[in-house]
Amino acid sequence: PSQTGSPSPDAEGAVHQIIVVGSGPAGYTAAVYAARANLAPLVFEGSVTAGGALMNTTEVENFPGFAEGIMGPELMMNMREQAERFGATLVRDDVVAMDLAGTVKTVTDAEGTTHRARAVILAMGSAYRELGLPEEKELSGHGVSWCATCDGAFFRDQDIVVVGGGDSAMEEATFLSRFGSSVTVIHRRGELRASKIMAERAMNDPKISFVWNTEVTALNGRPKLSSITLRDTLTGETREHPTSGLFIAIGHDPRNELVRGQVALDPEGYVLVQGRSTATDVPGVFACGDLVDHTYRQAITAAGSGCAAALDAERYLSALD
Ligand code: FAD
Repeated sequence: PSQTGSPSPDAEGAVHQIIVVGSGPAGYTAAVYAARANLAPLVFEGSVTAGGALMNTTEVENFPGFAEGIMGPELMMNMREQAERFGATLVRDDVVAMDLAGTVKTVTDAEGTTHRARAVILAMGSAYRELGLPEEKELSGHGVSWCATCDGAFFRDQDIVVVGGGDSAMEEATFLSRFGSSVTVIHRRGELRASKIMAERAMNDPKISFVWNTEVTALNGRPKLSSITLRDTLTGETREHPTSGLFIAIGHDPRNELVRGQVALDPEGYVLVQGRSTATDVPGVFACGDLVDHTYRQAITAAGSGCAAALDAERYLSALD
């Protein structure tokens, strides 16, 4: 059964086989596989952003199986239903603490109830850094994007803007120059943080130009982005810059708060997994999706690693029996 309110207290109850924390493509796919393996997973979806990053977007054109594309929220609700159909228990609540050591792990929800499980799958994703402008959420999927691979093709022959000065901004700008008639990189400093090779590649691209010492202070246009307001950080002068496509590439933060100090992380804070598996350095704890991946960061790769996490957890559990 699905639960949309608070989970029933099971602190003293059964020890679950698997608890999944997270509800993006990684968490729901792990739930589908674990449920079909008769492991009756308990899935914490989060209270605000259940469904993950794709709940904030419009059309998804690159998830295989949907020839005409599918709206992000619809795709996620389909995954949710699929997990539920095979017996996953879905809980719209946040996990606020975990104790992952030992053979029985504990997961505490926002009501303070502690749930126990023999295996835990971490699928909390990562948060794209935002500019912090009030219009940002509303215009997401309507001209404002965080993912060139996902959305670049929607901006063919348009004047595109990329915000950021690191490697990922250079990568996004270089990729977008295939589609846009021009790509303008806006950076708030006077020099790039990006590695030399990435910076040079972007700087040598005739379609890419740079605007230095400048920040974006407003996103204009409804229901679609039509321009951005720029402020010169040296002079304080503001001006409007017309654009129909803004890519925000100022970094992302893996949601590792609850597992810091419990599982090994890489220097950027992504959960480390062993080899091609999803095993963390803690037995019985598996991690998948954007929480481990700073390379591919796609719905299909997140779903694929969610599948792998459920299979890895299933094998771990059968080896214990
Ligand atoms: P997420 O989707 O980030 O999901 C994790 C979720 O877990 C969170 O949202 C939250 O609900 C839950 N959670 C986190 N912490 C807790 C907690 N403590 N307790 C309970 N629940 C918790 N990819 C594509 O392939 N194609 C696209 O077209 C595309 N478009 C995109 C558009 C936008 C605007 C964005 C932001 C991303 C897009 N992506 C796209 C990238 C894709 O969405 C991500 O790669 C993918 O969603 C990552 O999946 P995930 O399951 O790892 O994490």
